[in-house]
Amino acid sequence: MRIGIGEVWRRIFKYRQRIIVTFLVSFVITLVLKQIILVVFIDKIPIFGFHDIIDIQPSQARHSQDKNLIASYPKQDLAEFLEYLVRQDYWFLSTQELYDYFLANPPQPIPPQHKKQKKVMITFDDGYESVYTQLLPILENLEDKYGKKAKVVLFVNAGFMGDRGSHLYHATCKELNQGLRKGFYDIQSHGLHHNNLTQLGDENLEKELYEDQKRLRKCTDGLDKTRSVASHIAYPFGATDKRVEKYIAKYYTSGYLYNSRTLKIGWNRNKYRIPRLTVNMKKSVKNLIKLASGRWW
Ligand SMILES: [Zn+2]
Repeated sequence: MRIGIGEVWRRIFKYRQRIIVTFLVSFVITLVLKQIILVVFIDKIPIFGFHDIIDIQPSQARHSQDKNLIASYPKQDLAEFLEYLVRQDYWFLSTQELYDYFLANPPQPIPPQHKKQKKVMITFDDGYESVYTQLLPILENLEDKYGKKAKVVLFVNAGFMGDRGSHLYHATCKELNQGLRKGFYDIQSHGLHHNNLTQLGDENLEKELYEDQKRLRKCTDGLDKTRSVASHIAYPFGATDKRVEKYIAKYYTSGYLYNSRTLKIGWNRNKYRIPRLTVNMKKSVKNLIKLASGRWW
C-alpha cells in the first residue's frame, strides 16, 4: 500500500509529539520526586534574617514608597510569626546549639527534650534599638502567655552600640544586656563597623573581627557565663571569600551568609557558609510560615 506525503508528515508529527509529551512527563516526575526527597528525607533548618522592626500597620508599610522601610519588618507581623512558632513548639536554636548539634564533626547528641521538635533560628542583624523596644516585649509576652522562651540571635556591630544615627538608632550595651540577662538574646558578631570584609586589607580585616569580639565580650562581661557571646559571626552584606574565612577561623566558630537559602543538614558542611533566609517587608507572615515548615506548595 502506498502512503501519501500528507500521511508521512502526519505520522512524523505524531511521533515527535509523543517524544515531547514523554519528555515533559518525565521532567515533571523527576521534579516532584526531587521535592519529595528534599521534604521527607533531608533535615532542614530555616534560619531567618531580620533587620529593623517597626511599629507600623503591615498594609501601610507594604504600600509605602520609603526605600528604608523595605529591609525592616512590621512588629505586628513579627509577633504573629513568633507566636505561631511558639504554639507549634519549635526549638529556637542559638548559634552554639546549631554548631554543637548539627555542624560539629562529630555533632553532639541532641538532648532528649528537643528530639521531636521542629527547628528554627531567628536572627536580627545590625543591633538596632528596636530589638529592645519592639522585639523584647514580644518575647516577654510570649513567655507570659505560653511559658516558653523564644530565643533570638542578634548579630551586632559593637562600633555602633548606642549610636544615634541619622534615621536608625542602635541598641546600647545596657539594652542588650537586659535581653541577655533575661535569657532571650544570643549576642553574636557582625563586624566592628559593618564593613564589607572582602574589601578590607589584612590589618583592617583582622581589626574588624577581633575588636568586635573584644568589645561585645567586654559589654556582656559577667553575664556571659558560658562564654558564648561573639563566638559566631554574620558577614556584613553576606560577603565573604576564602581569605576572609581564613581570618574568621582565628576568632569565630562559624559564619553566617544572607542568601535566601535554607540550611540542609548533611549537605552543607562548611560551617563558615551557613545560609540564611532573607526577610523583608515583602514577606507576609504566610510566606514565613511556609518557609519555616519547609513546605514548597
Ligand atoms: Zn548588616
